[in-house]
Parts: sequence; C-alpha cells; structure tokens
Amino acid sequence: CGIIGIIGKAPVAPLLIEGLKRLEYRGYDSAGLATLVNGHIERRRAEGKIARLEALVGSSPLAGTIGIGHTRWATHGRPSETNAHPHATDRVAVVHNGIIENFQELREELEAAGRRFETETDTEVVAHLLTHLLDQQKTPQQAMGIAMERLKGAFALAVIFAGRSDLMIGARRGSPLAVGYGDGEMYVGSDALALAPFTSRICYLEENDWVVVTSRGGEIYNGAQKVEREIKQTAMT
Ligand code: GLU
Repeated sequence: CGIIGIIGKAPVAPLLIEGLKRLEYRGYDSAGLATLVNGHIERRRAEGKIARLEALVGSSPLAGTIGIGHTRWATHGRPSETNAHPHATDRVAVVHNGIIENFQELREELEAAGRRFETETDTEVVAHLLTHLLDQQKTPQQAMGIAMERLKGAFALAVIFAGRSDLMIGARRGSPLAVGYGDGEMYVGSDALALAPFTSRICYLEENDWVVVTSRGGEIYNGAQKVEREIKQTAMT
C-alpha cells in the first residue's frame, strides 16, 4: 500500500520508518524493511502497527545505508509476517503496491524453472522473476526492462539488489511512484508526503516509467526509451 526507498549516507532504517509513518494514513495491516548489510539482503517485518516494526528494529537493529520499506494492505495472501513485504531472494528485495494480475501463470513458470516460493502473495513472483533473469546473466537494468514486459496489472515497485549498495530500481504502472532528489542521497516513495522529511525536489513517474536510481540521481525509462521528466519543487513539509 505504501512504498519508501532510500539510498543514503547514514543508516537508513530509522528514516525508512519515519517515511512509513507518513504513509500510515493510507491504511495497512503489516510493515517491513529490507536493507543491504555487507552486500547481503537483511529484512525485518511485522504484522500490525509500524510501532511493532519499530520495536523489532529496536531490539534487532538493521544496519545499511540503502533500503526499502513497505506498509501492506493485503490483496493476495492473509496479513502475516511471512506475507509482509519486502519479498526477497538471495539476490533481490522487492516492495510492491497494487496487484500482479498474471502472478499465477508466472509463478507456475518460475516454479517449473526451479524457483521455490515462500508466500501466497502475488508480489513474490516479482522477486523470483528478477532473480531468474539475473541468474541468466541479465543486468539489473535488463532484468527490470524484461519484467516490465512480463508483469500484468497495477503496480508501483521498488527493488534493491544484493551486492549493489548504490542501486535501486523503481517502476510505476497504475500505482503512483515519486522520485526524490537529495544531496548525494536519493529517494523513492508512493507519494511526496512520504518524502517530505527528506527532500522537496520531486519527480513523479509517468505511466509505465521505470527508474534506475543511484546516489547521484535517476535515469528514467519508458519501455526501452530513456525519457526526461521534470523535477518539481514541492511546498510540502
Ligand atoms: N498485492 C500485494 C499484496 O497483497 C500488495 C498489496 C499492497 O498494495 O499493499 O501483498
């Protein structure tokens, strides 16, 4: 239901939680974070209020200067810690708003190719699809370009990649996603409100856009085409 992603200079877990609190108004049943720690994906997820996730991160701290966070409003798979986002493999972690309509078909295809699923969500198929493509020696950018063609339905996505501490890929189809520009730091979020504590320089992705984000900025694509989108100054705080 709500997405936040940060490539920062300092540990991002507290900032991700701050961003998630700004998204609480949208409603949710669970919440979670993923960061990279020494290049490996680490997650903390909790059913219920963000305060529970915050307590979990308090007792079991999460390092890392790149990360993604999510508040979930379940559409496929009951509200539970297992079904909470981010969904991950050893190579990627994914947060998703919306519904992947052809997840069943993709899941069967990926299971036939040997991928093993852990949840009942539609979202997990995105993590496995990207992993399958990375295993076939595609780059993260190539994998996302192919995924944009394979995934049907409505989604906003933010993805981080094991071993890539300066790369995040976002995508938008039918669900909004904004990119926030900081000073050597970059953000993605389901709305400008979530990014307001961090930056007022915002770019809204257009339908079918996907964005390759590093600490230095973002390159936006629509299909295979590189596109330019305006960065706006927001008055939001
Ligand atoms: N369809 C996904 C799920 O059920 C995402 C729901 C959402 O937008 O929070 O996990």
